[in-house]
Amino acid sequence: MSDCIFCKIASGAIAVSPVYEDDDFIAFPDIQPQAPVHILVIPRRHYNSLVEVEDAGVLGQALQAVQKTALALHLHSEGFRTVINTGDNGGQTVHHLHFHVLGGRFMTWPPG
Ligand code: AMP
Ligand code: ZN
Repeated sequence: MSDCIFCKIASGAIAVSPVYEDDDFIAFPDIQPQAPVHILVIPRRHYNSLVEVEDAGVLGQALQAVQKTALALHLHSEGFRTVINTGDNGGQTVHHLHFHVLGGRFMTWPPG
């Protein structure tokens, strides 16, 4: 989608500093971090949200990209949180599927 900011990041039109990337996914720091480590993992292909993905393989690959991102950042020993905001009630503001990876501090529950 030409006006989608995450598509522009995925294509390289907007430069980011990737912490993990492969042919299908790219992970980069959130511009408004909510934790000492706050990374967004996105598919290069545009999906509006989680509910648009019909291919279970893509969902599996996405979680694998999250896993690889956490491992690359050494978040796995202390733990981390993965968040997928979906739609208005979910608090989704960017309508290109993305996985928040938050770490570096204790995460409270329930979320706000
Ligand atoms: P959500 O509210 O789940 O849709 O999350 C969207 C996230 O994208 C927010 O945490 C924003 O801070 C983040 N964000 C928006 N624009 C950019 C950008 N250009 N680079 C990095 N993160 C961004
Ligand atoms: Zn997009």
